[in-house]
Amino acid sequence: MDPFTKPLLACVALCAAASLSPVHAELDVVKLKAAIETSVEADYPKLDALYKEIHAHPEIAFQEVNTAARLATEMRALGFDVTEKVGKTGLVAIYKNGDGPTIMVRTELDALPMEEKTGLAYASHDKTNWNGRETFVAHSCGHDIHMASWVGTAKTLVGLKDKWQGTLMFIAQPAEEAGSGAKAMLADGLFTRFPKPDFGFALHDGPFGYGSISYRVGIGSSNSDSLNIKFQGRGGHGAAPQMTIDPVMMAARFIVDVQSVISREKDPTEFGVVSIGAIHGGTAGNIIPDDVLLFGTIRTFKPEVRAKMLAGIERTAKAVAAMSDAPAPEIKITEGAKAVMNDPGVVETAAKVMKVAFGDNFKPSPPSTPSEDFSEFVNAGVPSMFFNIGVYEPERVAAARNGTGPQLPSNHSPLFAPVPKPTIETGVTAMTLAVLSAFDQHARGK
Ligand SMILES: [Zn+2]
Ligand SMILES: [Zn+2]
Repeated sequence: MDPFTKPLLACVALCAAASLSPVHAELDVVKLKAAIETSVEADYPKLDALYKEIHAHPEIAFQEVNTAARLATEMRALGFDVTEKVGKTGLVAIYKNGDGPTIMVRTELDALPMEEKTGLAYASHDKTNWNGRETFVAHSCGHDIHMASWVGTAKTLVGLKDKWQGTLMFIAQPAEEAGSGAKAMLADGLFTRFPKPDFGFALHDGPFGYGSISYRVGIGSSNSDSLNIKFQGRGGHGAAPQMTIDPVMMAARFIVDVQSVISREKDPTEFGVVSIGAIHGGTAGNIIPDDVLLFGTIRTFKPEVRAKMLAGIERTAKAVAAMSDAPAPEIKITEGAKAVMNDPGVVETAAKVMKVAFGDNFKPSPPSTPSEDFSEFVNAGVPSMFFNIGVYEPERVAAARNGTGPQLPSNHSPLFAPVPKPTIETGVTAMTLAVLSAFDQHARGK
């Protein structure tokens, strides 16, 4: 039976076994949540300052040097043993508190190569060099919210250390957006130089109401593949196209035709997306360029759907070039993050507690279509839960849904602007309860 259809008690006796240490006698979730909220409220000015500082000075994949140093300082001040430069710019922060399981909590460190247009007082105006070009940098995926929640959770768990026993392993991962940061940490000995965690947790913010948490059992996010295509033509005068092979025409045709792989070849009941996010080609209106580069992303949940889409995309690109009597295009498809699989046991344990704590604001949701390289840690053998927290005023979300208000900017929009206080407070409270639930479950020998 689905545990959420059962009547829920206001107080979950998480650890009633008499043989256990008195610290595990019983957790009253309602009281515990109130204690966590009081602690977060008192700490909030510091977390707010941390959030706004990181938001204003974001750093891109594998360049997160100042961000990592700032978090290292915070964690050392809390008594964590911190190792820097794990996986280039990553951090591992360990806090031991007696015998018990090792529980991992992950945040990302990186921002995006894009301009922030929120107009907020703490908006980023920073620029960096990326792939040989100057670009603005912005925390438009909300990883700054995750970092503030991560530090707040560490502080709260240290403050509640009489309620749990074991080891906290807080990791700050570089380059999530590049899909390579988790791999870099693992390759640098994350689970050999440090304890391999018994359980893992991570959260991500999203464009729904603050105070709300969504979760899933099983598939939680998509498989991601990046797509690079170079259509090779023959450049020449725009007024004499018969002397050329026009790669702009090929790119345009491909961008439209590739969507028929989604609509006509893939089973319509299965998830699959291909989006072309960047086109690089040409310099002037009257010059047909030699070549055009396309950069895209392919997202799926299931391996068989992925295989079908990759084959269709490749076939379409080749056919488009053949139609123009052009050389075969250069097609590079690079596998990125795999789907995150949420562990049923870890989720069920945390869900019992979070349902009591958050009521109807804690709810299951369909898998999310973005991708996450948190899957690397899961696939390395860490049973985990990845959940989402909302960032906007619930009234604005309701108005957007019923058409009486504007659509709200999603992650990766230049206008993405979480409301910091309720979002971070929910992140800390939810993550602290999730970690405590796992310690408690383990302490009861389950
Ligand atoms: Zn993102
Ligand atoms: Zn993200």
